[in-house]
Amino acid sequence: TGILYIVATPIGNLQDITQRALETFAQVDLIAAEDTRHSGLLLSHYGIKKPFFALHDHNEQQKADLLVEKLQQGTNIALISDAGTPLISDPGFHLVRKCRQAGIKVVPLPGACAAITALCASGIASDRFCFEGFLPAKSKARKDKLQNLAEEDRTLIFYESTHRILDTLQDIEDVLGAERYIVLAREITKTWETIIGDSVAALRQWLSEDPNRTKGEMVLIIEGKPKAENEEFSPQAVQALTLIAKELP
Ligand code: SAM
Repeated sequence: TGILYIVATPIGNLQDITQRALETFAQVDLIAAEDTRHSGLLLSHYGIKKPFFALHDHNEQQKADLLVEKLQQGTNIALISDAGTPLISDPGFHLVRKCRQAGIKVVPLPGACAAITALCASGIASDRFCFEGFLPAKSKARKDKLQNLAEEDRTLIFYESTHRILDTLQDIEDVLGAERYIVLAREITKTWETIIGDSVAALRQWLSEDPNRTKGEMVLIIEGKPKAENEEFSPQAVQALTLIAKELP
């Protein structure tokens, strides 16, 4: 049987491809990609010409079955997405699951991922975090989702689009509060890379002043819920301390 390689590609800067990715592209029989035209251009930049297989999200299950068949016949396949790491807010999950169930070897090749790259430069706690992908497009569903995350004390990471960023920040302000610290990482690894942090309200204000500031691809990193001053002690401890304090001269 063949091997399925999961290959990360750059998120903007073409120099972020890995040596191993290029060697793998050269060696496999087929490259499964989201958008074959987009990926054709990307790979031609590295001088690679290979047969493509189009893998769209809406019929991913069927396409996955087809690819599993090919793998079982001995075809070696590299899975890529339009940018970054496949399966991270991108197709590939069904394929990998089916391969592992069928006993087909899956080999991951690490590389760029917008969420991790943004987190590393955000200055927000990176020891514990929740990646939430894209928030819902409609405000009601978005606020519900944010409400579910309102008590989360780990760092929150979201992908967002240029069209929705201002509305999303408004919802974040409404649900998590105007003072919550947030970092916007825009166009990472590209010419207009901007990484800016402020309170939600101030960031929204700044972005709304110039349409150029909301252009491009972006990741939002939100500080987890800060501990309230009393929460650092258990209720029993607070009670005991209050009693003791009363006895002090
Ligand atoms: N699989 C990709 C990854 O590993 O990051 C993510 C794919 S998802 C469909 C695309 C989203 O990722 C964009 O809408 C944006 O939120 C984020 N993104 C991708 N490239 C980016 C970049 N260069 N700068 C900031 N965000 C980026």
